[in-house]
Amino acid sequence: MSKIMVVANQKGGVGKTTTTINLAAALANHGKKILVIDMDPQGNATSGFGVDKYAQENTAYELLIGHCDLDDCLLKNVFEGLDLIPSNINLAAAETELVDLEDKEFILDGFVQKIRDQYDYILIDCPPSLNLLTINAMCAGEKVLIPIQCEYYALEGLAQLLQTTSLVAERMNNNLDIDGIVFTMYDGRTNLAFQVVQNVKEQIDVYTYESMIPRNVRLAEAPSYGMPIIAYDPKSSGAESYMSLAEEFLKRNDS
Ligand code: ATP
Ligand code: MG
Repeated sequence: MSKIMVVANQKGGVGKTTTTINLAAALANHGKKILVIDMDPQGNATSGFGVDKYAQENTAYELLIGHCDLDDCLLKNVFEGLDLIPSNINLAAAETELVDLEDKEFILDGFVQKIRDQYDYILIDCPPSLNLLTINAMCAGEKVLIPIQCEYYALEGLAQLLQTTSLVAERMNNNLDIDGIVFTMYDGRTNLAFQVVQNVKEQIDVYTYESMIPRNVRLAEAPSYGMPIIAYDPKSSGAESYMSLAEEFLKRNDS
């Protein structure tokens, strides 16, 4: 039975998609069978795997609104051992189209339950918002992984994210829990990055991953080549950090 991870933080540009793509690829590299679900209309996890998001007839959007089935939108082996449900800007309309549906929070969950047996881990990349798409991800998920960018406003919004997670856990999905926080874009040369990590550890009672992701230009370049970092530049500090994160992740979650 797979574990279903929700990569979420309503703050934009903190490394959700970079973490989804590169942790997923590193886990696949460990021989795990992985599904990535792109729940962000920006479709960055889709293009990050080299998939042309505009060329897809069927995506997460068509799936959620009932215009296609899983087999129609699931892209096999976009990376070795890794399948993808892509998305693009169409998904932005889903929220308004689904709003009147009963059980609108559980649509993704219904599909995920049907295919979870085929995977070791399912990673869901969320948009920078606590909207219905993120709630669908949380209702389908078991563990929330929170990337936090090591900069001044890092803690802003974190309390709200934790509160939303516990509300979903209380009212909609008793299986939901927080896995932990991953620090991204860490710059060891600055006092600020160190302070952010200290503050989060002192103020938030959540597991913080020891493996931190450094700021590394190769990580920023890789998506434009449609490759996870372990394929684009396996010797870079970015690749090493995501491989180390994957090992720590497996120690926590692979049981
Ligand atoms: P959004 O909220 O828009 O979905 P996000 O939280 O998914 O954003 P990313 O897209 O992963 O964040 O990262 C934001 C930008 O920072 C991207 O251009 C990405 O390439 C870059 N980036 C992410 N992590 C790193 C890193 N460790 N080092 C350098 N650049 C990074
Ligand atoms: Mg993103």
